[in-house]
Amino acid sequence: MLRLLCITAHPDDEAGGFGGSLLFYASRGVETHVLCLTPGQAATNRGGARSDEELAAKRRAEFQSSCRVLKIARGEVLNYPDAGLDRVDFHAAVGDLTERIRRIRPHVMLTIGPEGAVTAHPDHSMVSLFATLAYHWAGRGNRFPKQLQNGLTPHRTQKLYYSTTLFSLPDRQPVSPPPVTAIVEIGSEFLEEKIRAFKQHTSQSPLFQLFEGMARKRGTRELFHLAATTAPRQMPMETDLFEGVKED
Ligand SMILES: [Zn+2]
Repeated sequence: MLRLLCITAHPDDEAGGFGGSLLFYASRGVETHVLCLTPGQAATNRGGARSDEELAAKRRAEFQSSCRVLKIARGEVLNYPDAGLDRVDFHAAVGDLTERIRRIRPHVMLTIGPEGAVTAHPDHSMVSLFATLAYHWAGRGNRFPKQLQNGLTPHRTQKLYYSTTLFSLPDRQPVSPPPVTAIVEIGSEFLEEKIRAFKQHTSQSPLFQLFEGMARKRGTRELFHLAATTAPRQMPMETDLFEGVKED
């Protein structure tokens, strides 16, 4: 069975840049996983929560509900501090992700680009760096060797993609996104489902209109940048993130 692992920073990131593709590949029989580093406890929109802990619990539940809409086989929210990923221990965070990659053994990984997506949120940039190094280090026997003492083995994921876009938000400073090298046509049904997945994040309801407008503007295409591959190549334009991927 083919496996896809998507690594994000906040509950709701899974729907925005990745939701249509996650659904598309689940519908094709790919086992999909989402790892979200923070429970989103620093959000401006708090859905009536009286403390960070209450908001974190609420957003963890919303994340699971979004994962059900997106037909994710397994979604996990870790416990890193929202709005603080640039101040956590770098080595420990990469180690956490490396261990999960060695367990899940994905064929393809997705994450955000180092620019931090259209919002340029520092957490987005950090998750990009953590996930990129974890992608590379999970396959090396001399990185985090202690993980390899109890049955885990190194794992080389065949491809790593960053989500990307062809526009900047009009009212924000522009970002420098990675160039588009892959276009996944998700179809109108999955576009509607992706919007429905975002709306499971009810604590974030003040953002629904903005999100829906942006999602409809992007339309039925999700854009990616091939950032690394186990099969060195010149850059082709792809329409399938599993193009050339071998089942093991
Ligand atoms: Zn986010």
